[in-house]
Amino acid sequence: MSDQGFTTAILHSDRSRPIEHGALHKPLHHSVAFEYADARDLVRVFQGELSGYSYGRQGTPTTAALEDKITTMEGGVTTVAFGSGMGAIASTLIALLRAGDHVVSSRFLFGNTNSLFDTLSRWGIAIEFVDATDAANVVRALTPATRMVFVETIANPRTQVADLAGIGELCRTRGIVYVVDNTMTSPYLFAPRRVHASLIINSLTKCIGGHGNALGGAVTDTGLFDWTKYPHIHDGYRKGDPSRWGAWQIRKKGLRDIGTTLSPEAAHHLAVGAETLALRVQKTSANALKLAQNLESHPRVRRAYYPGLASHPQHERAKLLFRDFGGLLSFELADGIDCFDFLNKLQIVISSSNLADNRTLAIPVAHTIYFEMGAERRASMGIAESLIRVSTGIEEEEDLIADFRQALA
Ligand code: PLP
Repeated sequence: MSDQGFTTAILHSDRSRPIEHGALHKPLHHSVAFEYADARDLVRVFQGELSGYSYGRQGTPTTAALEDKITTMEGGVTTVAFGSGMGAIASTLIALLRAGDHVVSSRFLFGNTNSLFDTLSRWGIAIEFVDATDAANVVRALTPATRMVFVETIANPRTQVADLAGIGELCRTRGIVYVVDNTMTSPYLFAPRRVHASLIINSLTKCIGGHGNALGGAVTDTGLFDWTKYPHIHDGYRKGDPSRWGAWQIRKKGLRDIGTTLSPEAAHHLAVGAETLALRVQKTSANALKLAQNLESHPRVRRAYYPGLASHPQHERAKLLFRDFGGLLSFELADGIDCFDFLNKLQIVISSSNLADNRTLAIPVAHTIYFEMGAERRASMGIAESLIRVSTGIEEEEDLIADFRQALA
């Protein structure tokens, strides 16, 4: 991050380069193709020797402006944007891994990431899931073929907080790519660069966009990993500044070849949303803490999970690492209360599957996002069959508490 404050830097990032007509927003560039007066320049762009745009699938000036904002927020060296968070994760893994590789992943994961790992394991990439709240479990799982460690900061949906610093130190000393999914914390609450992350994933759909009106994803290279030592960088991408090699391969082998491209319209929505990231996350975090405290002490709630609660097993770690605790919490109802009856009684809170919308959303995860993986795997992730995930919005706190209270009553 520059010397400017978090929000100042986002608000003024478009203007760091001249914008046509003195516009304050970067305009939407819809063109798929780009002209070069000298055809040799087109070749140089294709070959990575000149910066520019070759074809809209690999990026446009509009997506590049958003990428610059994310790079600034994360304090990285470069970012590649995608059409969704899953696009970013899938493209990163497919671009960097090969059959025979071994990946250690946190066992506490977003359901679709878990499903993607299942696909990769069918392609000959071995995935070992561990309890990543303790780096010692990651150490035990390492093999000579381990190329990558993958964790979420605050795990969706049970809110376990990975041993982010311990794993970062381990990956640094062993030369392993450390991928941190920062979606639940967002770059406002946490800078994974501080714990030596190599690559940072953000689902832009969530906190950064914030309005539930556009899908997007991004991977940011922190510049800390030495790509000259990574065996799977293709010869064609071993050119120029080595800190860009990994992202270059992700852009080519991931974004270009898979085509999970972010549209200029979505990039614009996300960039406008990003301007209020800090303000929104302050409010969603405050709402989540109040709601979690209320739920925890309610007789009709068996357990509430939120890193801001003193009862949370990683509360001290979360306090140390994060600026605040975010807008994700989950809870189990007391025995005998039907979670669907409860959800149907909520009037302000919406039964819906997104996260970090301005509106508060709730979902029974075992029956939806985590349904496909089966009860055994859910249990290993700490997901009870009655678990309800809540993503707090920016409504007035009293309204939210009152809505939960009347539904529980
Ligand atoms: N990572 C985490 C932690 C998520 O919670 C999600 C979605 O909920 C994703 C990635 C995927 O993001 P998207 O929905 O933008 O594909």
